[in-house]
Amino acid sequence: MASCSQYDLIIIGGGAGGLSAAIYAMRAAMKTVLIEKGAPGGQMMLSDEVENYPGFKHIGGAELSMKMAEHAQAYGLEVVSQEVTALEPGLDVHTVRLANGDVLRSCAVILATGGSPRKLGVRGEDAYYGKGVSYCATCDGFFFRNKTVLVVGGGDSAAEEALYLSKLCEKVYIAHRRDALRASMILQQRIREECKIEVLWNTIVTEIKAEDNAVNQARLKDTITGDERHLDTDGVFIFIGFTPNNELVPAGTRMNADGFVVTDEKCETNSPGIFVIGDLREKYARQIVLSAADGCTAALAAAHFVEAKMAGKSDSVCELPESLMATN
Ligand code: NAP
Repeated sequence: MASCSQYDLIIIGGGAGGLSAAIYAMRAAMKTVLIEKGAPGGQMMLSDEVENYPGFKHIGGAELSMKMAEHAQAYGLEVVSQEVTALEPGLDVHTVRLANGDVLRSCAVILATGGSPRKLGVRGEDAYYGKGVSYCATCDGFFFRNKTVLVVGGGDSAAEEALYLSKLCEKVYIAHRRDALRASMILQQRIREECKIEVLWNTIVTEIKAEDNAVNQARLKDTITGDERHLDTDGVFIFIGFTPNNELVPAGTRMNADGFVVTDEKCETNSPGIFVIGDLREKYARQIVLSAADGCTAALAAAHFVEAKMAGKSDSVCELPESLMATN
């Protein structure tokens, strides 16, 4: 394929979506660079165990991240470890600026920057971050061995992380604002069966307190009665969803009210040649397998977009080239 500008494709973000896009882009012979400011894997890296990625009954999030990165790099993928400071869309060529001052240009861009943990917004949360407040049980659970912790949230993340913490801690409370968990049934069943875990239903955290600069209490409020009380705890692990990392999304790109980017079925935004995949994209569910699927879709669509541009066509909506359809 003829080269478009410096690169055919720039992928921003090295989680499951970005790495999957890289595998497909490299196999489609696109001149591709992937930019990632941290370690590859994204949110996957924060999962202790992944049990629903097809082909792996149990695999650590870090191991799956490593396998995906190795897979992409086996095709000779160029990886740049830098922070992206700006994405400037152009008519034909898009510009990506890096923190070190480098400027990269490409015909197509896939934005795969995911999301970050949502904050509770209560007093003590920021002040005691790293001193008992955490957003990652896999990273920080070790420091709470044989201690008592409070997990906040009722989704898959809260359930998974509470189960992980129950292997280390003496007692794990889960504070959930309703009377039913949102987590999948299999996780709910495991929570019920784990005697170290106690769910505090209809409960919100209103303040996190510390003594000697280490968390020692959380103030709780019953959402039905309004009653307040203190719970002794050594740590507070917060898993209440996440907010999209949309800082690089160019002005004028369609987003929903929550800041997730709206795309078409090819994962393309309303800026031609700019694709958004994974957790940053507006979608029904957020799973590793879905981010990987988005990566595939966007890379195939980007390959077609670049090829159409090279051929001097302006319309990118047509059949995939045979060479790409044959790739599996
Ligand atoms: P989530 O599914 O959005 O759940 C967030 C939880 O936090 C909900 O229970 C919500 O309560 C609660 N919450 C939200 N804001 C709150 C607040 N201000 N105060 C107290 N509680 C609050 O988020 P997630 O668990 O991080 O999961 C995100 C996505 O990743 C989901 O699609 C999930 O299925 C997926 N995921 C999948 C796996 C897996 O399959 N292995 C693992 C982790 C995550 P309500 O229930 O009342 O809304």
